[in-house]
Amino acid sequence: MTPFRYLRTRQGDDPVALLSTAGNGAFIAGGTTLVDLMKLGVENPSTLIDINSQPLAHIEDLADGGLRIGALARNSDVAHHVLVRKRYPMLSEALLSGASPQLRNMATVGGNIMQRTRCYYFRDLSFACNKRGPGSGCTAMESFNRIHAILGTSDQCVATNPSDMSVALVALDATLRLRGPNGERTVPFEQFHLVPGQTPYRETVLKPGELITAVDIPKSPIAAHSLYLKVRDRASYEFALASVALALEMSGGKIQSARVAFGGVATKPWRAHDVERVLTGQLASEDLFAKAARAAVEGAQPRRDNAFKVDLLQRTLIKGLRTLTALAVSGDGHRGGAQ
Ligand code: SF4
Repeated sequence: MTPFRYLRTRQGDDPVALLSTAGNGAFIAGGTTLVDLMKLGVENPSTLIDINSQPLAHIEDLADGGLRIGALARNSDVAHHVLVRKRYPMLSEALLSGASPQLRNMATVGGNIMQRTRCYYFRDLSFACNKRGPGSGCTAMESFNRIHAILGTSDQCVATNPSDMSVALVALDATLRLRGPNGERTVPFEQFHLVPGQTPYRETVLKPGELITAVDIPKSPIAAHSLYLKVRDRASYEFALASVALALEMSGGKIQSARVAFGGVATKPWRAHDVERVLTGQLASEDLFAKAARAAVEGAQPRRDNAFKVDLLQRTLIKGLRTLTALAVSGDGHRGGAQ
């Protein structure tokens, strides 16, 4: 590991100002991703600024009925919070499907949003990787690429975004609150992560020196009737091969509105607007689910070893639709507090 300086902030310190004087610095909170990448030599900040003292771990009601979650809130605390479970079951389920209890106790919301891909070649310095070394090539294109993306890819990078939580947040129309050297700003969650295009090393719209301070989730009655369904190689402590965040508003067997997002298959948390359009205003049926599944993989570009994800994503979506619509018909449409 490359030597680095460690600065622990105290309450009242301004971590943004500290970082602006730190050169190649980075914020650290839970450290569950960053420390791993530093050990591997993938990330080499010269200064780490520990922000755990900052008052950013709140989970609070907003006046408009939404919820604000501080960037330092631990993943476990968010997953088990009564308002998250009641209003946004998909978010609680997404968090509980990720990592292990020990990691969830350490990992923060901000860190979860910023976690980097699990592409094997990105994490191993002996392989070419355009994300790690711009212009060096992408080993995954012609090598073993079972875990890689089928949506949002480019000829430069096919790595998946690994965050389950972010899939739920993009489906929930969340907004990120950022603070940087030039003040505060907000960014719609859907616009925060970038597809790789020709610049796979640019993963988000976060500017140099900016800090995520909170995520706002709007009031959303539809979100109380939601789920997160994750398919993976083993039952726990594993990343998604395909996942679906799904919320439905149902009335008389008809889907009045839908929120759909995918994980494990795309280069960023993937909001599936086309699927939502197919579902909206239609009577729930197997034919409709099949049509939605086809829309889900429209434009998918599988590689040699990950073509199975085209089927897997469709089947995961159909299972989610069957589950949520059945709950609505049985009168258990409001899933809040069911866990
Ligand atoms: Fe690097 Fe992306 Fe290629 Fe993986 S898929 S080797 S992260 S460029």
